[in-house]
Amino acid sequence: MSPNPLVLENVTRRFSPGLPPVIDGLSLTLQEGELLTLLGPSGCGKTTALRLIAGLDTPDEGRIHVAGREVTRPFLPPEKRGVGLVFQDYALFPHLNVLQNVLFGLKHLPRAQRLPRAQETLALVGLTVFEGRAPHQLSGGQQQRVALARALAPRPALLLLDEPFSNLDAQLRHATRQDVRDILRRSATAAILVTHDQEEALAFSDRVALMRGGKIEQIGPPAHVYGQPETAFVASFLGRSNLISGTAQGQQAHTILGQVSLQTPAHGPVMLSIRPEQLTFHPHGTPARVKAREFGGRDTLYHLQVQDQELLMYSSHPQVHAEGETVNIAVNGVARTVR
Ligand code: ATP
Repeated sequence: MSPNPLVLENVTRRFSPGLPPVIDGLSLTLQEGELLTLLGPSGCGKTTALRLIAGLDTPDEGRIHVAGREVTRPFLPPEKRGVGLVFQDYALFPHLNVLQNVLFGLKHLPRAQRLPRAQETLALVGLTVFEGRAPHQLSGGQQQRVALARALAPRPALLLLDEPFSNLDAQLRHATRQDVRDILRRSATAAILVTHDQEEALAFSDRVALMRGGKIEQIGPPAHVYGQPETAFVASFLGRSNLISGTAQGQQAHTILGQVSLQTPAHGPVMLSIRPEQLTFHPHGTPARVKAREFGGRDTLYHLQVQDQELLMYSSHPQVHAEGETVNIAVNGVARTVR
């Protein structure tokens, strides 16, 4: 069995002695070929975590292993770690053509292997016909695929992608993301993607790690983290969520929306996460006033006022309610308690 592409053991990074660490006892194990996303608000430590893994920075405590080899003590420099990097700004050499850009990362290979490896990688990313072009003669998406080829050509144990799609417009971003995912799958390369785009995280990864204050708040497959958020932070950062307080008694809780069924039994004061798609119009439901609505094509997002709380609700119902109207709503399915 091959070793795990990456293991982080209690990694801590502190920039100033008086302040809390930016990376705080981070532990993480990546499986072979796994695509993991680090997601979280600005400043939560995502880029710092990548820099530590890449060897562009050193942890104050803890250990990092890449493909079974410890890289922290003794410190192994970035070029010796077997880690590929792709950044937001492509960082291609403007004076080199596509093929030369890819060859650049292969200087460690015996001369005779370099050209075949570069050409094979360009074929993998579908850019063989562009090999003689200069970077400025390519679209943004194509340049990003060259950057990917350059990072993949040395066959790294692990690829690190820091906001690689954020310079692309929405449509190209979507297509490039799928291409990159497909290429990583075909080359069975494990990768960590850093993004603050939650939709990208859900669509791209096998597992999402939600970071907050230098720690992982929750980690798991996208559908699990979305469907079973453990904390209010996770519920509201990943997708939209209505956080409603209530009093639980077993499988039910009493809330401003009346009796709500719970996913897991509880007792006493609770905080519930109810997704906007879990709310529905119901003739016998709780009265709510339409404060605003946003038409989204497939559905409409309503901002509803119930007592002193504003709630969000998605509805694909053809009947559209106007601002100021009073509607009746109910919770569809079970609510989840969060910390
Ligand atoms: P963003 O999404 O905005 O890129 P991030 O999650 O990637 O944010 P980091 O760039 O890792 O966050 O930064 C985490 C924190 O560490 C920030 O508060 C930042 O100011 C601080 N920080 C990062 N690098 C240094 C440094 N070299 N010296 C001091 N503080 C730093």
